[in-house]
Amino acid sequence: MIEDDAAARLTAVRAEIARAAATAGRKADDVSLIAVSKTHDAPAIRPLIAAGQRHFGENRVQEAEAKWPALRDETSDLVLHLVGQLQSNKAEAAVALFDAIHSVDRPSLIAALARAMDKAGRRPYCFVQVNIGGEPQKGGCPVADLPTLLAGARVADLPVAGLMAVPPLDVEAAPYFALLAKLARDHGLSGLSMGMSGDYRTAVTLGASHVRVGTALFGDRT
Ligand SMILES: *Cc1c(COP(=O)(O)O)cnc(C)c1O
Repeated sequence: MIEDDAAARLTAVRAEIARAAATAGRKADDVSLIAVSKTHDAPAIRPLIAAGQRHFGENRVQEAEAKWPALRDETSDLVLHLVGQLQSNKAEAAVALFDAIHSVDRPSLIAALARAMDKAGRRPYCFVQVNIGGEPQKGGCPVADLPTLLAGARVADLPVAGLMAVPPLDVEAAPYFALLAKLARDHGLSGLSMGMSGDYRTAVTLGASHVRVGTALFGDRT
């Protein structure tokens, strides 16, 4: 049964988070599990909601607009996170739909989000995404630009909760998580959105406040 699978996977991931938190002397409650449901349809998502999951993540505005209004009509207390790159021309749609935006990474997007938030009277909390591995193909601001970008976000009155990163594939993630945690500390930010299916345990031991887990909850994306 899909339902049983989903509930069992959720229980397993929650147990892993609790175990990792305990080894680091942290409380499991201080870690928000975001179920990244991109590419999965409502019938795949509902069993997780039924099992008590409330935070969900999507990486594309249009896909989220097609799925989530109906799911929200069924369950009112869902929290929706945008974890993928955001084009400035989709800022209004993103602000209207999401409760948190994890991919703030450039001044033009800060300006577009600030305008959209003022217009909508709604202020989703934001994470500034850092290109922690300096990879040209990836989103996120260069580490060197972070102080200027954070200052710009403050001036624009964006509610910045913390930092987000996706470390390079196929190498040990821990040093990148540790660096992101240090950058957050240096800037007085407590939010740390880091860790995916392959490395969320490591991320929790290094201070993640939000882990973004897809495959370990939903199975492979086709
Ligand atoms: C898809 C995605 C995830 C989840 O990845 P899994 O490896 O399936 O857990 C997390 N963060 C971002 C930014 C993603 O795009």
